[in-house]
Amino acid sequence: MSLLTPEPTDYILEKALAGERISAPEALRLYEEADFLRLASVARDLRRERLGDDVATYTMFRVVNYTNFCNVDCHFCSFMESYGSERGYVLDQDAVVEKMREAVEIGANQMFLQGGVFEELGLDYYTGIIRAVKERLGSQVHIRAFSPVELLSLEKTTGMPLAEVLGELKAAGMDSVPGAGAEILTDRMRRILSPKKSPVSEWVRVMETCHEEGLPGSANIVFGSEETRAEVIEHLEVVRSLQDRTGGFLSFIPWTFQQQTKKFKVRTVPAHEYLKVLAICRIFLDNIDHIETSLMVLGQGVGSLALHAGADDISSIVLEENVLRSYGLKSEQKAREFIADSGFRPAKRDFYYRLAEEPATASA
Ligand code: SF4
Repeated sequence: MSLLTPEPTDYILEKALAGERISAPEALRLYEEADFLRLASVARDLRRERLGDDVATYTMFRVVNYTNFCNVDCHFCSFMESYGSERGYVLDQDAVVEKMREAVEIGANQMFLQGGVFEELGLDYYTGIIRAVKERLGSQVHIRAFSPVELLSLEKTTGMPLAEVLGELKAAGMDSVPGAGAEILTDRMRRILSPKKSPVSEWVRVMETCHEEGLPGSANIVFGSEETRAEVIEHLEVVRSLQDRTGGFLSFIPWTFQQQTKKFKVRTVPAHEYLKVLAICRIFLDNIDHIETSLMVLGQGVGSLALHAGADDISSIVLEENVLRSYGLKSEQKAREFIADSGFRPAKRDFYYRLAEEPATASA
């Protein structure tokens, strides 16, 4: 049975502009048939209504990949090493603290702590590195840590309920969770991309428990493989309905796969399709305030257009990233120039989207 609805796309867009929620079949019709410029214009109007229209934000964080040992073997990963590999490593507390100290010295105040699934590391290792960062660098350093697959591994190896594991991590100083590990939230696509990862229901359970335990986060989608358009919308529906229950997602980020694997098909997502999906995210996800674009995926030209198609944030200046190759901005000044050149007033924000300053003028 086709999911397409009979309404013309203009009717659906008018409905969104009137503040009515659009359905998944309506979002699919927009993806299939809507004119890109009309979609972008409606997405920008909705962004203007919700957040204003002249400021675009950025933040700075350091990615610290504490280990590259992993037994999950996601088909898109160019980072993991099998247990026992000579190229494998595990960072100790001093190494993690030093990496974050360098980032703090150049203006970052967030750490994104993520690694492979290495079952030999006990819960004490994780709480230890979090505590060490907070004790030595200060509690103002925001620690965003661990994707669902890592948390599920900790639940298994400790034998503790997930809420208790999260309680221990939070007591050590963990502040939030990343949006990692979602890719495409359908079980068919998970079997293609990461057959050893848990099903969608487990991803939802982990994120829901994190939010219930006071650990907010973001969500993302990574598309440009064998997924259907209906599966992209199904993914957005999973996220929207979880957000209705918890309110724990601060932002949503659409990404595309990169040509770094031969284990599944990766197609080049054209700029107009990426922007279309981003605009649909703004329109469909009426319960998530912030839509981010990442310059690491399609570059600065597309990133600039994304700010005119519903995005309000350029994600972050990422100071280390091992899983994806980087096309990101390398300095805070470059981020500010990029935003100003795109026609917006740049402002630095923290994890909670609180502005660290008065937004600059568009020429800053
Ligand atoms: S993406 Fe993460 S979980 Fe998947 S193989 Fe790589 S390190 Fe492991």
